[in-house]
Amino acid sequence: MRLKFYSLLAMLSLNAVAVFGQQPDNSEWCGTKGITPWFDFYRLNREALAAERGGVDTAWLYVPVTVQITGTDSGTGYYPFEQAIQSICQMNEHFAPTRIRYYLQPGDPVRYLNSTYWHNHQWEGGADLIETNRIPNRLNTFIVADPAGNCGYSWMDAIVMSKSCSGYGNRTWAHEAGHHLSLPHPFLGWEGFTWDYSQPAPLAINTGWDDHEVEKADSSNSYVSGDYFRDTRADYLNYRWSCNSNSESTLLQHDPGGAPFRSDGTLIMGYSSDECGAVFTQEQVVAMRTNLQNSGPGGHAEYLQVTEPGAEIDDDAVVQLAMPIDSQAVQYNDITLHWDPVPNATFYTVEIFLFANLQPRLFYQTVYNATSLNITKGIPNNRTLYWRVRVASEWDLCQPANNQSVGIFKTKNFSATNDLESVVLAEVSPNPVAAGYPAKLLLTADESMEAAITITDASGRQCQRQTVKLSYGENILEIPTEALQAGLYTLSIQNEKGTILKRLAVTN
Ligand SMILES: [Zn+2]
Repeated sequence: MRLKFYSLLAMLSLNAVAVFGQQPDNSEWCGTKGITPWFDFYRLNREALAAERGGVDTAWLYVPVTVQITGTDSGTGYYPFEQAIQSICQMNEHFAPTRIRYYLQPGDPVRYLNSTYWHNHQWEGGADLIETNRIPNRLNTFIVADPAGNCGYSWMDAIVMSKSCSGYGNRTWAHEAGHHLSLPHPFLGWEGFTWDYSQPAPLAINTGWDDHEVEKADSSNSYVSGDYFRDTRADYLNYRWSCNSNSESTLLQHDPGGAPFRSDGTLIMGYSSDECGAVFTQEQVVAMRTNLQNSGPGGHAEYLQVTEPGAEIDDDAVVQLAMPIDSQAVQYNDITLHWDPVPNATFYTVEIFLFANLQPRLFYQTVYNATSLNITKGIPNNRTLYWRVRVASEWDLCQPANNQSVGIFKTKNFSATNDLESVVLAEVSPNPVAAGYPAKLLLTADESMEAAITITDASGRQCQRQTVKLSYGENILEIPTEALQAGLYTLSIQNEKGTILKRLAVTN
């Protein structure tokens, strides 16, 4: 009977939230504000809920995640999946003390969505993104370019992250996941509120849904004010702030009685900058774990599908590189890399570097349940390059990379018809080019040399000619087009080694 009673309460709160469940402002670091109906239910019933669960609650809780990465209509602008893996790895480090652990849904870890409307969205586009793509029974995580001007938000039972606030060293994922599991900001009620902090705070602030009591510096009213937790101190700071050496706000605030205090910068749910710390308090942990084990409206018990973690990858596992290795020469624009599978690994991230010290990284891509990768663009010709493969799995997202072996290969252009083509790579851009705007000829040369550049029109008439000195590496030549009519031209690069021909289209 007790459960039904709670559900009824939750339903009442649901009705209440319809009034105040407004969309957040665009201008904030995190777009989430207010409290969820489930949290309202929780704060009013926490003793009864604690009694129901009993005293012991130390089991690990495993939460499945599918990451959905948006791109533009033409499929560009994706967040690299490798960095999404690192974001969840980081989130798991932040959540480790809570005994909540996230894993990628086996067989369905990542989906890609091509929609500019979703990729850079306002609130309407965000709602459409979530409603169209939300998957039942797992934590729905979307990574977009611009989530309505925020770093991220938790809304409509999903979390939406911006590309720029993701990756290792970032607290945003843990923050939004905290919201998803019901936690409000410690400065609840102050979202979007402008205040002169040198003044004593008001007794209550109008949040749009309620006159919400302001938490006192001594926390004496903490269960009916602020974020309704006693072990999160008073905090009124609704903007991104940096902390002092005690991980507290440098800004002194004043409670309604005039008592001065500083905010706690270690709280993941606050707005302090990432380096101030990363803590969920004990009361916040209890709320999140209760939410995860509650099957009422707004509870997430449906996430708890497994009670044991999946198999992990051996920390010392080394990916055996099959080919190319030992400085083997490969066609620079058609390279297929092969490696041997590693037990329990499902994600393989291929990295290609310019130098033996693994800097800079020229290319990286993550493949799923595959042990080869074909690359057709972005790799320079006539270079010695270094590659390795990192591993991860749905359950093992923090695998170290520094023990991986490094393979060496050389890029060549085997289709070169003369010696010049084998030592110089020529690319023209933009192509077509508008008359009057310069085109750029990028010549990547393996050695220094002289060459003649000529431009001829479709009838074979020579329009321009100059002799240039190419040095080793990249050479950029500007091709003026003021004197050229719209039409097709042939660019020729020529010396004693041979000739390279490129087409250039000039438009009006
Ligand atoms: Zn937030």
